[in-house]
Amino acid sequence: MKCSKDGAFTEGEVSPYGNIQLSPSAGVLNYGQAIYEGTKAYRKEDGKLLLFRPDQNAIRMKLGAERMLMPSPSVDQFVNAVKQIALANKRWVPPTGKGTLYIRPLLMGSGPILGLGPAPEYTFIVYASPVGNYFKEGVAALNLYVEEEYVRAAPGGAGGVKSITNYAPVLKALSRAKSLGFSDVLYLDSVKKQYLEEASSCNVFVVKGRTISTPETNGTILEGITRKSIMEIASDQGYKVVERAVHVDEVMDADEVFCTGTAVVVAPVGTITYQNKRVEYKTGDESVCLKLRSILVSIQTGLIEDNKGWVMNIN
Ligand code: PMP
Repeated sequence: MKCSKDGAFTEGEVSPYGNIQLSPSAGVLNYGQAIYEGTKAYRKEDGKLLLFRPDQNAIRMKLGAERMLMPSPSVDQFVNAVKQIALANKRWVPPTGKGTLYIRPLLMGSGPILGLGPAPEYTFIVYASPVGNYFKEGVAALNLYVEEEYVRAAPGGAGGVKSITNYAPVLKALSRAKSLGFSDVLYLDSVKKQYLEEASSCNVFVVKGRTISTPETNGTILEGITRKSIMEIASDQGYKVVERAVHVDEVMDADEVFCTGTAVVVAPVGTITYQNKRVEYKTGDESVCLKLRSILVSIQTGLIEDNKGWVMNIN
């Protein structure tokens, strides 16, 4: 789908996966003007396909596009495109329990622009790939490393939206943590370097007793759709759910820590290492994390009734 600077998006078409042509001076290549989303299509036991809250991805893309001075497809256009791509790839969606179809909507400044400014033309593409389960078997615990040198986002920046410019700067920290044997990095705020932000591609929750806390989204943290869903499920289950500034010392003193995101869904954190101190957390079947994960996965795969209007049947 294409559109000029202030115009509406034209209806697009489904075509085989392949390369696209861009001018060397395309806005996206020179000034990083692009926003992306990530969502999944799940196969129900009866073979039908489900999407999980695609309207939320559309709304988040719209907010991101506004921040990056880009026009965006309407919520209906976005959801329709995601639906069409899921259906066109139906035969590639793994059977229930074996994986999902990952769907990537991408909005970019595709028109040429030499001086710094918004691109004169925009392209919206949706592509997909089958993916296996994040964890090969069962659900393994993540081992996180608290990053003190690099930050993911600064106040006033684009950390609160899914801009492509947020991701290359964290590759160095992530690769260093992985080479030391960690699963991911836990970022702190860029001002005091004392408050929890998020991991490279997931949000973080801290459990103490029956209270579940997660950093508030103040423009430096991505407001995850899984995060929002888990907050609602946890409240339904009687937990006290609080969005607030979470100090790193509290994280080190928590009963449990877990991560949420489209890729990991809900994943327990087994250990966190901060300033040469390593803390272990509860992760077993009785953990709050795995209880919440099981409810969410059952909704996403159509195993329990969706009384929240979160899943969209697309057959
Ligand atoms: N934070 C970041 C930086 C991310 O890239 C993602 C993945 N989209 C998330 C959090 C989790 O968001 P969601 O639950 O919508 O996938």
